[in-house]
Amino acid sequence: MPADGESAGRTRQPWSALPPFEVPSATRSRNMASIRAADTEPEVYVRRVLHAGGFRFRLRPRSLPGRPDLVLPRYRLAVFVHGCFWHRHDCTNVRVPRTNTAYWRAKLDANADRDRRNEALLAQAGWAVRIVWQCRLAADTATLLADLRVLRERTRT
Ligand SMILES: [Zn+2]
Repeated sequence: MPADGESAGRTRQPWSALPPFEVPSATRSRNMASIRAADTEPEVYVRRVLHAGGFRFRLRPRSLPGRPDLVLPRYRLAVFVHGCFWHRHDCTNVRVPRTNTAYWRAKLDANADRDRRNEALLAQAGWAVRIVWQCRLAADTATLLADLRVLRERTRT
């Protein structure tokens, strides 16, 4: 087990403070519409969408800083699927708990600092980094998929 706040503290996560996952709108492609966000973990949702789009990836490679949730080596793209609470997203859904506030603030700040460091290390190594946030799972995933399709077209010869 990694000494990582996310896995160690998962059971203490205040789920009630988090929004339900956004369900893709009917105007999106059939692929997107057939994949329901509500009944999956966010990471699984992203994997399913990219896989349905014909993209292949590796999961949490040990060799890369921060072990991104997905990497697409062909596009040198690393994707993190971040929970808003643990990764201190600047959104209205994140509130530092009212008890042990100093403890939580320090812990969450440390998580965010670590994220920034890992992103910088990845960038230095030539990887593009994308974040999919839990509070906009469907929208961020749709944008990621659209951008990957553009990249795929460009690299097709
Ligand atoms: Zn958020």
